[in-house]
Amino acid sequence: MSAARKKLSEKLAHWAEDESAWYRFCPRCGSQLLPVELDGRERRVCPKADFVQYRNPVPAVGAFVRKDARLLMVLRKFPPRAGLWTLPAGFMEYDEAPEETAVREVKEETGLDTAVQKLFSVYRAGDDPRTRVVLILYEAEIVGGRLKPGDDALKAEFYPLDNLPEEIAFSAHRRALSDYLAREKRKK
Ligand SMILES: [Zn+2]
Repeated sequence: MSAARKKLSEKLAHWAEDESAWYRFCPRCGSQLLPVELDGRERRVCPKADFVQYRNPVPAVGAFVRKDARLLMVLRKFPPRAGLWTLPAGFMEYDEAPEETAVREVKEETGLDTAVQKLFSVYRAGDDPRTRVVLILYEAEIVGGRLKPGDDALKAEFYPLDNLPEEIAFSAHRRALSDYLAREKRKK
């Protein structure tokens, strides 16, 4: 990792921790929120008692999709971390099951239709500047579609496991890839 990129990632990790993750005003009535201690943690409450802000991580879901010994990777088009690589993944919609998110995100970002096979693992992620994330990763197989980068991807391509892109956008994806490669190595 370059020094500049390391500095940026430290800054982004700090932003996730700081004031910007809190609302200043009640989203229900517009009153200024007040910091309080609840459950031994900091929360923000509305003085009219109609809202408490709990900062919870947001679930994101993605998949390992293989074609023989190659793994599907996506090059991000938009911030945060435009121009860096991830596994196909994205935030869960309110009405989705995690498996549905995985299938939808792979389709949107890569054009491929997939079927979820099994859960790979789950990671916490603290370096996305938008929010803290719980990243759920499945293994999925291709059942149709045609490989074509989606609107929010610059590229969607299969890479040999021993020659994956190095510039990975988020630490949870880096850890997941490292766990996945370690498992593949043990299989041999
Ligand atoms: Zn309020």
